[in-house]
Amino acid sequence: MSVSDLRQAAPVGTRLDAFDAVDRSAPYGVQLRQGQTAAEAFRRDLLGTGQPTSVSTHDLVTLPYPSRFGLWMAAVTPSPYVSITNRMLIVRWPGNVLVFEPSDHERGEYTPYFARLNDQTPALVQKRVVTRHATVVENLAAAGIAPEEVTYLAFDHLHTQDVRRWIGTSSEPAAFPNAKLVVQRQELEAMADLHPLQRQWYQPDTYVDLRVDAIAGLDGDVLLGPGVALVATPGHALGNQSLVLSTTDGIWAVSENVIAVEAMAPEHSKIPGMAKGARTWGREVVLNTNTPEALADQYNSVLKEKALVDRSQRDSRFPQFLPSSELTASRYFPGTKPTFTTGSITHRST
Ligand SMILES: [Zn+2]
Repeated sequence: MSVSDLRQAAPVGTRLDAFDAVDRSAPYGVQLRQGQTAAEAFRRDLLGTGQPTSVSTHDLVTLPYPSRFGLWMAAVTPSPYVSITNRMLIVRWPGNVLVFEPSDHERGEYTPYFARLNDQTPALVQKRVVTRHATVVENLAAAGIAPEEVTYLAFDHLHTQDVRRWIGTSSEPAAFPNAKLVVQRQELEAMADLHPLQRQWYQPDTYVDLRVDAIAGLDGDVLLGPGVALVATPGHALGNQSLVLSTTDGIWAVSENVIAVEAMAPEHSKIPGMAKGARTWGREVVLNTNTPEALADQYNSVLKEKALVDRSQRDSRFPQFLPSSELTASRYFPGTKPTFTTGSITHRST
C-alpha cells in the first residue's frame, strides 16, 4: 500500500458543472473573468437544490501563524505572528452528517513546520499563545452526534492533517467507522510525490496505510446534499476545495484561501497596511500563502469564492465567508486585530 494507491478512490456526490466553463489552459486573466461569470450559474444551480437541515460551527484551537504567510505582502505589523482559530463545521441533512475541517490538532503538531516551531518555542510561551478549545470528538458529543452517524469528513486541503484516527488503518480502529474522507484527487496526487515548496506542511507518511474504501476522490465540484457542495478552489494547495452552503442567510463559503474576511475586501480593513498594501499592488484580495505553489490560481479562486457568496448580514461591505482558520485578536500580536470576524455559521432549515 502506498499514497499513490489512494488515487483510485471512487468519487461521491453529484457532479456540478458550472465551473467547467472555465478554460484551465487559458491565460490567468481570462480564467479570472470566466470564473466570476461561472459563479453566477453555480449560484443558480446550488439554490435549486434546497438547504441542509442544520449547520453549526465549533472552535478547535487558537494558535500562532506567521503574519508573512497569512497576510501576504499586505500588513505592516511588526508582529511576526498573527493568531488564528481553527474551527470545524457540522452539516446535517437527512441520513447524513458532514464534518468539515475535523483537524486532529494533537497529531497535526508532527507536521514538519509545526514540529520545528514547537521545538523553538518555550513551553511557557506556547501555553500563553495556544488555546485548545475542544477536540473533534468532544465537539461532536456536545452536539449530540454519535461517531457512527458521521457519513462524510472533508478538509479544504490536507496541510498538517493526520486522518488515521478518523478513518482508521490496519492497526488502528476508525473513530468514524461509517465516514468517507472526501478529498480532491489532485491533493492525493500531490501528497504521493511532494514538491520541496509543499513538504513543510504535509505528513505523507501517515497516509500509507489508510483504507481506500474510506476515501472518496473528487475531480472538481460535487453536490453532497441539498445546498451542500464542495467546490475546487485550487491555489493555497492545488487540491484545495471550499465548502459552499445554501442557508437561510443565503450562500456561504468556507476555506483557508484567506485567513480573514477583510482579506477579501482589503479596502475596508483597518489592519495597518492592508488597505494600502492591496491598493499599491493593485490587488482586490490578500492571499494566505504558506506554500506559494500556485498564486495566480489562488487569487482566481478567492475571486470565485467572493462571487459565489452573498454579502454578510451583519456588514454588507464584507462577503459571507468563513475562513476555516480565522484571524483572531490577540494581545500578544499587536497590529493584527481583525476589522470584522465571522466566527460561525448557524443555520436551521425552516
Ligand atoms: Zn494550508
